[in-house]
Amino acid sequence: MHPDTTSSRAPLRRDPRWRLGLVAAVATLLGVSGASAQTPAVTATTSPIAGVDATLVNDIVIGSRILAEFGVLDGFGHVSARHPTNPNRFLMARSLAPALVTADDIMEFDLDGNAIDARGRAVFLERFIHGEIYRARPDVMSVVHTHSPGVIPFSVSKVPLQAMYHNPAFLAAGVPIFDIRTEFGATDMLVRNAAIGKALARSLGDKTVVLMRGHGDVTVGPTVKAAVFRAYYTDVNARLQAQAIALGGEPTYLTAEEGAKADATNLVVIDRIWNLWSMKITGASK
Ligand code: MN
Repeated sequence: MHPDTTSSRAPLRRDPRWRLGLVAAVATLLGVSGASAQTPAVTATTSPIAGVDATLVNDIVIGSRILAEFGVLDGFGHVSARHPTNPNRFLMARSLAPALVTADDIMEFDLDGNAIDARGRAVFLERFIHGEIYRARPDVMSVVHTHSPGVIPFSVSKVPLQAMYHNPAFLAAGVPIFDIRTEFGATDMLVRNAAIGKALARSLGDKTVVLMRGHGDVTVGPTVKAAVFRAYYTDVNARLQAQAIALGGEPTYLTAEEGAKADATNLVVIDRIWNLWSMKITGASK
């Protein structure tokens, strides 16, 4: 037996998770399910928003949690979806860390960022990112805003973010950078009103991603799955591009034509990775 065995077991026993695991195991053996009765379900079988299918609400929850799990979102950032039948509304969580979002936290907003049924719940300050992009881009059905660590260097650098490989192929169409200072001078960098949201939407233009100087990024898509996929792969691409540049020489990036073709393929096969992500969050495959 390894001499460290005893000393390594002691911290394990002090770790409260060890006790919780034991309690859960005993509860399972006894058929007791008290914990699940007190803890809100992560996803819903019945939608908390009238007229909206639970699947869409659950996609927002899964997207929020999976981006948190991979470090694309931390305590901040958000995932939203346009209302499926009222294009002048969108759905996003109350102000809450993305890793903690459950179906019951999803709220409905108008494009000005007013909550339809607030019931005293706090809302995200930067909800104007979402409302103004939905207003400017009728094709967009989901918006993700992150402060992902990978993209920050490219938001402040003259080196453009470019598509390294097929999964982030959407980057090959071009990646604009929104500099809040250009129109609004010295601010706290946040999209805290509709005017800044409109300026950000103008910077995004017809693209699928916009970097925000000294802040983060926004990705959009025709579905929640697509916008989340793009947020994840924008971060991965940024990290890999920095590595490729560090190798020296000049990386060979995807062309715009290659990017358009690969992006179309990605949207067809997206369920493969989404189902994996969903299984990680809900413990069940679709
Ligand atoms: Mn932000």
